[in-house]
Amino acid sequence: MEFDLFVIGGGSAGVRCARIAAGYGARVGIAEQRFWGGTCVNIGCVPKKFMVYAAEYGMNADDARAFGWEIAKGGHDWGTLIAAKDKEIARLNGIYLRLLEQAGATIFEAKATFIDAHTLDVGGTRVTAKTIVVATGGHPVKPDIPGAELGIVSDDAFYLETMPRRVAIVGGGYIGVEFAGIFAGLGAETHLIYRQPLPLRGFDQDLRVGLAEELAANGIILHPDSVPKSVKAVGEEKHLALSDLEVLEVDLVFFATGRVPNVAGLGLEAAGVKIGKGGAIAVDEELRTSAPHIYAIGDVTDRLNLTPVATAEGHAVADTLFGGKPRKISLKNVPTAVFSIPPIGTVGLTEDEAAALGPAKIFLTRFTPMRHQITKRPRKTIMKLIVDAATDKVLGAHMLGEDAAEIVQGLGIAIQAGATKADFDRTIGIHPTAAEEFVTLRTQTRLVGQDATDAGVSGV
Ligand SMILES: Cc1cc2nc3c(=O)[nH]c(=O)nc-3n(C[C@H](O)[C@H](O)[C@H](O)COP(=O)(O)OP(=O)(O)OC[C@H]3O[C@@H](n4cnc5c(N)ncnc54)[C@H](O)[C@@H]3O)c2cc1C
Repeated sequence: MEFDLFVIGGGSAGVRCARIAAGYGARVGIAEQRFWGGTCVNIGCVPKKFMVYAAEYGMNADDARAFGWEIAKGGHDWGTLIAAKDKEIARLNGIYLRLLEQAGATIFEAKATFIDAHTLDVGGTRVTAKTIVVATGGHPVKPDIPGAELGIVSDDAFYLETMPRRVAIVGGGYIGVEFAGIFAGLGAETHLIYRQPLPLRGFDQDLRVGLAEELAANGIILHPDSVPKSVKAVGEEKHLALSDLEVLEVDLVFFATGRVPNVAGLGLEAAGVKIGKGGAIAVDEELRTSAPHIYAIGDVTDRLNLTPVATAEGHAVADTLFGGKPRKISLKNVPTAVFSIPPIGTVGLTEDEAAALGPAKIFLTRFTPMRHQITKRPRKTIMKLIVDAATDKVLGAHMLGEDAAEIVQGLGIAIQAGATKADFDRTIGIHPTAAEEFVTLRTQTRLVGQDATDAGVSGV
């Protein structure tokens, strides 16, 4: 079989690329070896968010009592949650497949591997294509410690038959933090173990500090500056030994210790595709690999591993190759969220990144959200703007607090458009909301970066 374009991988990146290219009239084939929609739909963003909702409902039930609802909180039924999640995901799988079929792509439910630069073996069928797109995503990895096989990774967490009573999550990145919120919210004794003093390395420091406080307030037992040494099975229990000599006795050890690109066994060497740092496929600005007719998009390039980035890249490659609309995707100012409880929304530079470039004004506020004035839940919202002292441009916006992801998406547009602090200031707020604080941050908290002085600093 011969195609103009063959896409390997039916995840966020691959499906979008195949669908758009087929829509332009290209002869497109696409192979998916496991499930349509890939990581995000099946074992990532989507089921994760359902589980976060489930965890929040338990807290909402508690909070509702402060508003007069006579709610008795019963237990949580894990089986009901997983069945509801599975049903919705089956629906989404079907949508992805239908979109591809309707666009006219030829579907292969099989593994694809390179035979040579233009030829693939797809589940025993030989196909050739002028252009090939590799969109094979990534997978989680466990640390190299004795007994690691006794722990699970995020892929497994969505299919657990029962809810663990006690869980140790290793890794303070966004996946670890999110699952800590899920398990704690559903009633498990939850430990979060991370190497750094604070979770979420790379995020703005004020948010990291605030998040650690919120996680602890939600009952999560934090183990900063700590690494796992070994796991042992003792009867039904797992004993996780930590670097500080503590041994955690739990029902489940969950490794959220990173992901690597899916390149093994693809036959990339047969196609002349070079692997870069950490096993990722190296690409240029146009997402071309070292073989000029082979592109790589999404997590397999391990640059900014987010679904909207993967879909944007797939779309851009299809537009460029078959739509007569050549374009590149900028990874600057990509808004992103962490669905911790409460969540984080963030876009642009952190305070440390801005300070390294030159003087930046920091506007920071920390307050009790309106509803929790009544519930008395110990929760604080943090909102922060980073402003270029020379140009007045807003370089970064960061929020920890309810609805942060929803709020920061809009700020992403403003920052992408180059809005200044003066633009924020003349925008009228929506009242009463948390979001309005972003347009009423009048008092500079500090000045950071080159030649910064503490002039004009006010406390928060
Ligand atoms: C737990 C978790 C939570 C996440 N939460 C978020 C979130 O909230 N927001 C967000 O933006 N991102 C989130 N992500 C990241 C997001 O899921 C990924 O960035 C996104 O799925 C990448 O899309 P992709 O198409 O590159 O790869 P994938 O979605 O992984 O798709 C790759 C597909 O290729 C298939 N494949 C691999 N090799 C072959 C082969 N040889 N032949 C045929 N098929 C093959 C795989 O089966 C897979 O379906 C999360 C990830 C995880 C793990």
